[in-house]
Amino acid sequence: MLIGALEAGGTKMVCSIGTPQGNVLQRASFHTLTPDETIPQIVDFFDKFDISALGIGSFGPLDLNHRSSTYGYITASPKKAWSNFPILTRLRETLHVPVAIDTDVNAAAIAEHVMGAGKGYRSLVYVTVGTGIGGGIIMNGDIVHGLIHPEVGHMILTPNEMDTMPDGMCSFHRHCLEGLASGPAIEKRWGLSPRLMMEDHPAWDLEARYLAQMCVNLILILSPEVIVLGGGVMQQDHLFPKIRRYTYEMLGGYVASERLDLEQLDQYIVPPALGNNSGVTGALLMGARLLYSQRRKG
Ligand code: ADP
Ligand code: ZN
Repeated sequence: MLIGALEAGGTKMVCSIGTPQGNVLQRASFHTLTPDETIPQIVDFFDKFDISALGIGSFGPLDLNHRSSTYGYITASPKKAWSNFPILTRLRETLHVPVAIDTDVNAAAIAEHVMGAGKGYRSLVYVTVGTGIGGGIIMNGDIVHGLIHPEVGHMILTPNEMDTMPDGMCSFHRHCLEGLASGPAIEKRWGLSPRLMMEDHPAWDLEARYLAQMCVNLILILSPEVIVLGGGVMQQDHLFPKIRRYTYEMLGGYVASERLDLEQLDQYIVPPALGNNSGVTGALLMGARLLYSQRRKG
């Protein structure tokens, strides 16, 4: 049996075919133009395979309220052409298979929980630090949706006194995490792409402090058993020990768990075990889960 996975991103749409267990077999990628241009390309790709279900991990914000008449819509996206677009219904009606949808980071969180860095735990937070910052939360073995879905990337931080861009660059909030610590924020502050920065560039110390503030907030509010940090900026491996050390210092020994000892934090704040495949794997698992639950209901 084959499952389809769509990673819907602001710049590209990655379509994959895989197994219900999350193994990827085929992949194709299309630029994200308008829905009228891009949806037919996606449909053409999936039509070539006999898929039994589709899982979508999408950029947001999304309407994920099952009772809403606009369930599965991309809502007020900065990508104007996709605002209020019913991505779930459109693909379900064209492909004639069950379609599951969640945010891209929730899909990644599901995969890391089921078969990655969070395997065996009941709770996990997955955060991607890239063009934006977003987080998916698993609690008691289940993804957290709540009112809409968590917006971990926009938590408000205390700006560092040495920061030359203390307000950040988010158009909605002053000094939110994404505005201060996303890839574009690093680039704007220092006038240099983070890809090109050497390990000893002062940008990384500041970045680690902001990501440590985020970890501390997540630990204090959610008490997750593991925090997974992925995305382009986290390709800088040297960030991990810095983030762990600042997290340890900021917690001040208050939270009494051995897992938060400095020597143990390398098992607690970790890169994704599935690497770049967390999102696609999660979308496959979501598609398979929906299919099985519909079959059980008959
Ligand atoms: P997206 O968030 O768009 O899906 P990424 O997770 O790759 O994609 O994030 C892109 C951002 O990450 C850009 O701002 C880019 O400068 C930054 N980035 C990508 N690769 C690296 C790297 N190796 N080191 C530091 N920053 C990187
Ligand atoms: Zn913000």
